[in-house]
Amino acid sequence: MQHLAILGSTGSIGTSTLDVVARHPDRFRVIALTANSQADLLFRQCAQFKPRYAVMLDEEAAVQLRQRVCEAGLAIEVLSGAAALEQVSVLPEVDTVMAAIVGAAGLRPTLAAARAGKKILLANKETLVMAGNVFMEAVRASGSALLPIDSEHNAIFQTLPRGYDGDLAGNGVRRILLTASGGPFLNMPLSELHNVTPEQACAHPNWSMGKKISVDSASMMNKGLEVIEAHWLFNASVDDIQVVVHPQSVIHSLVEYVDGSMLAQLGNPDMRTPIAYGLAWPERIDSGVAPLDLCKVATMNFEAPDFGRFPCLALAYQALRAAGTAPAMLNAANEVAVAAFLDKQISFLSIPRVIEAVLDALPVNAVGSLDDVLAADAEARRAAQRKIGQL
Ligand code: NAD
Ligand code: MG
Repeated sequence: MQHLAILGSTGSIGTSTLDVVARHPDRFRVIALTANSQADLLFRQCAQFKPRYAVMLDEEAAVQLRQRVCEAGLAIEVLSGAAALEQVSVLPEVDTVMAAIVGAAGLRPTLAAARAGKKILLANKETLVMAGNVFMEAVRASGSALLPIDSEHNAIFQTLPRGYDGDLAGNGVRRILLTASGGPFLNMPLSELHNVTPEQACAHPNWSMGKKISVDSASMMNKGLEVIEAHWLFNASVDDIQVVVHPQSVIHSLVEYVDGSMLAQLGNPDMRTPIAYGLAWPERIDSGVAPLDLCKVATMNFEAPDFGRFPCLALAYQALRAAGTAPAMLNAANEVAVAAFLDKQISFLSIPRVIEAVLDALPVNAVGSLDDVLAADAEARRAAQRKIGQL
């Protein structure tokens, strides 16, 4: 029996995780669920999964949830605030933490889980983008098992040799290919891009996801963040990682070996597949995902990414090459810009402008500790807000 803490249980990854968990009551027991402010949904999840702890980041939402839990006679301790997220991530009775909070808010609890030696199912890619060396060092030091949930990284994890030790060349790997759908604006005339709305940006052709990652997919910043994520997860240099646009999202990524073999992982675009793989690893379990019908897919297309159309991808490569605090600043500026776009304060094309201005304005420092990362994050957020004010 695996005992789970699910951080961000009300989100797209969180609800897909609970969907898989519900199919295997003999294997998984939910100890803790957490969410930002959605008390209604968290209450329904509490009633179904009966965790010992439920955390609401928002204090008022926690009061509401506590009342409903009490009225329903459920024996659940309701906690609130950011410290409670870390608290449930390191509980002795928890062995596996699903890190599915969106954005920088996921960093501290995910790092806490790594330091406590938990098995980590990592959806929150921002943790690695911001603090890759600090996080990977914590994973190594504690002996945590780290399972990537991001579909591309999960695919690569599945197609690398089992027990991969962080040495690509030593394992006969020439490079890693990350596939990208290209999002909803892959073929839109460039002249129309400045007018696109948040609704259009969030209407992903293949995947149903939270709003932030949907906008990131539309700008291809998501792929940029994933290049940085792959760098840390697989100890791959920036030149070992190639992005290939594959609009059907059937091949979730590939590994190319020196003998000319390319191994790929394919499936329907449904996050329950990588989630089930992470949950049951090294075994495999039913995920509820329909089998892929290759005859229905019929055609698969591939093309090189257009860095002119998707400047965010180029900015992410630039930040990875600059190293140090640059990826944390890229991530922070992107979070602020995406929030402003979703709030209709700036246009879609202003997202890369804000990020570029922040990267140009701020010095890159070395990262020795979490504090270095948090300082860079805070400074980049301030610089991004200033830039937005000037637009
Ligand atoms: P989402 O917006 O649907 O859900 C986010 C979850 O985090 C919710 O439960 C929300 O309550 C919680 N949350 C939000 N802000 C918070 C805060 N400040 N403090 C604590 N909790 C907070 O997001 P999602 O699409 O499920 O994505 C979650 C993570 O997984 C992201 O890092 C994303 O990049 C990654 N990911 C998602 C997908 C996908 O298909 N959705 C695929 C790959 C990777
Ligand atoms: Mg992905």
